[in-house]
Amino acid sequence: MCDLRLNAPLSQAIHAGDSFSAVTHMTDILIRTIGSTGRITLTRPDALNALTYQMCLDIEAALERWRADDKVAQVVLDADGERAFCAGGDIADMYQTGRAGDFDYGRRFWADEYRLNAKIFNYPKPIVSFLQGFTMGGGVGIGCHGSHRIVGQSSQIAMPECGIGLIPDVGGSLMLALAPGRVGEYLGITAARMSAADAIYAGFADHYIDESDWPALIAELESGASVECVTAAATPPGDGHLEGLQHDIDRHFGGESLSDILNSLQHDTDDFAQATLTQMDRNSPLSMACTLEIVHRLRGPSLTIAKALDLEYRFTYRSMELGDFLEGIRAAIIDKDRTPAWQYADQSVPAASVSKMLMPLGKHRLQLEEDNMAQLKIGFIGLGNMGAPMAANLAKAGCHVTGFDTVVSQVDQLTMARSAAAAADGADIVVTMLPNGGILRRVADEVLPKMRPGALLLDCSTVDVDSARAVADQAAGHEVMAVDAPVSGGIGGAAAGTLTFMAGGSEEAFAKVQPLFEIMGQKAVHCGGPGAGQAAKICNNMILGATMIATCEAFALADKLGLDRQKMFDVVSTSSGYSWSMNAYCPAPGVGPQSPADNGYKPGFAAELMLKDLGLSQQAAEAVGADTPMGARALELYRKFVEEEGGMGQDFSAMLPRFEAKTRD
Ligand code: NAD
Repeated sequence: MCDLRLNAPLSQAIHAGDSFSAVTHMTDILIRTIGSTGRITLTRPDALNALTYQMCLDIEAALERWRADDKVAQVVLDADGERAFCAGGDIADMYQTGRAGDFDYGRRFWADEYRLNAKIFNYPKPIVSFLQGFTMGGGVGIGCHGSHRIVGQSSQIAMPECGIGLIPDVGGSLMLALAPGRVGEYLGITAARMSAADAIYAGFADHYIDESDWPALIAELESGASVECVTAAATPPGDGHLEGLQHDIDRHFGGESLSDILNSLQHDTDDFAQATLTQMDRNSPLSMACTLEIVHRLRGPSLTIAKALDLEYRFTYRSMELGDFLEGIRAAIIDKDRTPAWQYADQSVPAASVSKMLMPLGKHRLQLEEDNMAQLKIGFIGLGNMGAPMAANLAKAGCHVTGFDTVVSQVDQLTMARSAAAAADGADIVVTMLPNGGILRRVADEVLPKMRPGALLLDCSTVDVDSARAVADQAAGHEVMAVDAPVSGGIGGAAAGTLTFMAGGSEEAFAKVQPLFEIMGQKAVHCGGPGAGQAAKICNNMILGATMIATCEAFALADKLGLDRQKMFDVVSTSSGYSWSMNAYCPAPGVGPQSPADNGYKPGFAAELMLKDLGLSQQAAEAVGADTPMGARALELYRKFVEEEGGMGQDFSAMLPRFEAKTRD
């Protein structure tokens, strides 16, 4: 991994008869076509075939040539030597340039490498890779995204990046998010190595074939056999470890944050928990916390390789400047003292530091394909606490955004219009972020006649389901598509580009706004037809209102029973009383992760907004005759809190001091 050699690629083209043509042999890689097979062989066995920048570029160029070449039916990717297919990316140059304050070299390398990873993942022809010995980090990026990934008796696959202050990248986070149960969190955070059987179980490989059979199989492919022969040659991989550990892994790695996982492991004395803690002890806490966050953000139906690489790049782009990467390399490879001075040595990583590493990169974001954002014209109406940062994120990503607000007259990087109609005029997409359904209906009356057929109205406000459906109907009358996509994540999420969108509308409309969701948020769930997003939002917030009240009243009861708040948190956050209100947004100051409670209950999410949302859920429940007694009680408590008990302007978690001050009637 630490080979400091720079490549001096020698290119030569040899034509040798009809079966062996166009050979490009460089010092580190051999690229040629044999019959109808494109052949790539890594030829740096002394450096465990560590992937250099030039090797990435060479592989990409070959794949591009063969993509359009009808004579090439498939690609075979293998490596010289017995010890490794590819033990990782060659990070020596990144380290040296980074230490000298030049972060651009590393960023370019990562961006180009990730583009290659995506190309392999999406390649239209079969890619068969043979993964002997170590396949790690950058090796996973080229070896584990093809269509036929073959492992044998010596295979050991891992994503060990947390050990050097990075996160599992090169698209590895995609496989971690898809692995069974919590295996992805476990593999990413601990950097545990997978045997052949484990790699197949976790989704990093497809087939086990005895390594002594590989040369004959490759020869068969080269002589024109189809890739079916690979599947036919596969045999059972024997027993691995991961499947047997699944129960323990799921038990300990289900938590929301790194501290949840640590809490769970530390409260257990069995061998698995202790061995896992030892593995985690070597790794950068910031990297582990970000790995967990990435896997959580990715998991779900909207997972794509582009999204995985985009999130990974947000981290790696900042890893030298703000992360532990340079220190990790120093300790592991340069000084080899193996005692890195991580930024957060005690493993309690503030949520704000994780958000900072994963914030959108705006115009520096990873671009896998030609950038078409610049062509997108967006009108943005409602530039308040939420709308302004959301619109700014779209503009930073390269969209042309024209904004309008009845009060706010300027937002950075936005062109301002004099009216909602003017902002919507000629726009591809109009986004609204308004206070309520009545205002949304009035704005829709004004903008829809100005929008061209085929354009789209995206409402991100929280409004009543009826208004959302009425606006969607009205839009259809103008041949405009509509999506209702209220958000969760608050002002912090709007600024950081980490909102969750719950969307209602047609498949076609949802697909059209997906790129905007990816810029403004971390996750978008398509909930159903028009109004389904609002329905999901009010149901979610009804649960949130009720669980926050339950959490606050339980803390107040615990106080009165003489129970220490930290102990209460330690127990409940890993027991069946677990909830987002307790674990991620703890209402007790100084306990759990940072939350508005640590900031004098300054919102965050204001109590009056919770009151509004609880009102919407009761309104909807009445309309359809649903019995919602807990929601109704939560509404009454928040109404009293906001209107009679000074809760207006406080965070909705300020229910805790309210319960603290009260006694039983
Ligand atoms: P806000 O009051 O800060 O912003 C609303 C903006 O809309 C204001 O700037 C206002 O001037 C503007 N506006 C009102 N009428 C208008 C009109 N006719 N034309 C143009 N602009 C107009 O509110 P916010 O906190 O940004 O919330 C916006 C929406 O997002 C609400 O529906 C809210 O429930 C929802 N929401 C808020 C949060 C949060 O934490 N603040 C979280 C999730 C969802």
